[in-house]
Amino acid sequence: MTAAPTRNPVAVSASSAFKAPATMRALFKHHAGTELKLDTARKVPTVGPRDVLIKVKKAGICGTDRHIWEWDAWAAGRIPVGITTGHEFVGHIVAVGSAVTRYQPGMRVSAEGHISPGTGFNARTGAAHIADEMVILGVDRDGCFADFVCVPEDNVWPVHESIPDHVAAVLDPLGNAVHTVMEAGVSAQNVLITGVGIIGLMAVTVARAAGASRIFVCDIDPKRLALARKLGAVEAYDAREKGWVEHLRKQTHNGADVLLEMSGAPSAIDAGFNALRPGGTAALLGIPSKPYPFDLTNHVIFKGAKVLGINGRKMFQTWYQMEALLLSGRLELEDIITHQLPMERFAEGFKLMQTGEGIKIVLNME
Ligand SMILES: [Zn+2]
Repeated sequence: MTAAPTRNPVAVSASSAFKAPATMRALFKHHAGTELKLDTARKVPTVGPRDVLIKVKKAGICGTDRHIWEWDAWAAGRIPVGITTGHEFVGHIVAVGSAVTRYQPGMRVSAEGHISPGTGFNARTGAAHIADEMVILGVDRDGCFADFVCVPEDNVWPVHESIPDHVAAVLDPLGNAVHTVMEAGVSAQNVLITGVGIIGLMAVTVARAAGASRIFVCDIDPKRLALARKLGAVEAYDAREKGWVEHLRKQTHNGADVLLEMSGAPSAIDAGFNALRPGGTAALLGIPSKPYPFDLTNHVIFKGAKVLGINGRKMFQTWYQMEALLLSGRLELEDIITHQLPMERFAEGFKLMQTGEGIKIVLNME
């Protein structure tokens, strides 16, 4: 990814009577290295005319935040030092800019973290999630690991009253799972999910809710394989055990109809394509850490496979689909959100994620 400009809102007075305190707590990248630091006297963001200011209630720790915490090559090349991190959250609007008409203080909201410039081909043709010059909350501009976050009104997602806060805090990754599943099309299809981390596990319950026939998964973590089974996978393969691809082929018409690739691990991607039937569809969300040799001839061309790259969430088709699936009552997310911790215990949250002891960790910001 290339570096994008930091675009924090410009100073314009908000129309609301809300008096934000001058300072707040925030987790920010304090240096070009590992970890994050808690600043207890961070300046509260200034609300632009078309922005809303949200008091954050709960925020999810994302794999992206872990990259930023660990300061890997991607983070070092992308993240501006000094930025407030975090992009998955739920909270209440406390102030709106002078030109905002659709939202009022008091509304419970989440937000799409990809901020489209609103101009250019993709932004204007229904593909804002892959618009040029995309700015990402908590990556390119100040995010939600703070008492207050400022987002453009176009990015606000009002949360249905029956969706609880801890679920509303993780709509961003759930949206990745929904986007991947819906783009691939799983109704009455045999589905293989390679990699059952946070989004892979969410994809199991989403695929089931969206009418998948049998769901097969592979991973190397026995705990997550067991959870995938609990969520509805009929087979949970240890990826290191030989013969699972043949086993899956025998149980289907020579392979899964649909592959949802959620690991980014080259060995899993290759095994996933081996387990995909000729003419099947592969939707790829996992990100390999670097380019690797891929057998395009056999995996895609001779196989007649359809391959879809999945990035973010469709704005806002995915959000409407996600709400519909949540309101159907068919999504099981309680076992995936393993920990809710007070914000001050953020270091513990990252540790739980790194050790694999936790799956989805949510910080209580209040
Ligand atoms: Zn995320």
